[in-house]
Amino acid sequence: MATRVLRVNPRRPEPWVIREAARVIREGGTVAFPTETVYGLGADALNPEAVGKIFWAKRRPADNPLIVHVDDVAWLGRLAERVPGEALRLAERFWPGPLTLVLRKSGEVPDITTAGLETVAVRMPRHPVALALIRESGRPIAAPSANLAGRPSPTTAQHVAEDLMGRIDLILDGGPTEIGVESTVIDLTSHPPQILRPGGVSLEELREVLGEVELHPAALGKAEERRPKSPGMKYRHYAPRAELIVVEGDPERVPVKIEEIARGYRALGRRVGILATDENLGRYRSGKAVSMGSRRDPETIARNIFGVLRELDREGVDIIIAEGIPEEGIGLAVMNRLRKASGFNIIRA
Ligand code: AMP
Ligand code: MG
Repeated sequence: MATRVLRVNPRRPEPWVIREAARVIREGGTVAFPTETVYGLGADALNPEAVGKIFWAKRRPADNPLIVHVDDVAWLGRLAERVPGEALRLAERFWPGPLTLVLRKSGEVPDITTAGLETVAVRMPRHPVALALIRESGRPIAAPSANLAGRPSPTTAQHVAEDLMGRIDLILDGGPTEIGVESTVIDLTSHPPQILRPGGVSLEELREVLGEVELHPAALGKAEERRPKSPGMKYRHYAPRAELIVVEGDPERVPVKIEEIARGYRALGRRVGILATDENLGRYRSGKAVSMGSRRDPETIARNIFGVLRELDREGVDIIIAEGIPEEGIGLAVMNRLRKASGFNIIRA
């Protein structure tokens, strides 16, 4: 199939572009579009055949549910069986924005959208293109990240094209995304509420609104769950083609350890890439080092993380060694992505 690409102004989306994309959605097609987190691959969430095209295009396992994107809190009442007060408080504080709420689903949501689960995940994005597209389509849009299953998530339209050209109807190119990691997923059907995936809204911010909030063990990305609560937890995610090692621990010892590992691999004739922070970039001699951003600015690291993984893949390195960063604020989401991308190949310095 032919995939069309249309440029769109990320702040003031051209009405004709949005009308065209909304027509594709209403007719049951697939559209990749920018959100404030990463690019999403959208289809009409209430049309099972359209949602099937998302699973096909991404080669996504059928047991991994999709997030339903809305442009109005009122949709919660139609998509969820019951809307608890916590959901309204969170929506009031964080919507539109990078927070996804998991609630018991209503009969209106097709089984394929939730991969057969009794719950539905809902979010209102704040990107003007995403909001305009949902509004113009007049229906909720199911949209997982617009990458092939298992690959690093797309933060530019070029990343989307790399993975999905010829597999979807339309790509809206609105430039690079702002946050760079996906939304936080919080399960409001468990008590206390549980974070299934850390993301753009931090644990600290959620505790300000809810008081008690639990972190699902898999949300730390420290070990593979035996009985995953969110089916997405059990697959290797975000992974570059190269083997990835994450080195964590004492910030003074991490660069020393990385240089030591890099030297070892280079002696074996392997091409080594290093994911460094600005502060340590100059300390690496034994590999192609690229910076993710400053250790003092985890927001920038979040914005860059998926792009630098793809960049080192393009460089054709065999192995990537990454510096761990502190798990504060959005740093928790970054470490969750890095650990999963490494397949839990973690070394302590
Ligand atoms: P993606 O944004 O592409 O990474 O995919 C959506 C994420 O939300 C995946 O990790 C899903 O497993 C998770 N998710 C979607 N719906 C549900 C649900 N009903 N319960 C738990 N997790 C969900
Ligand atoms: Mg994804």
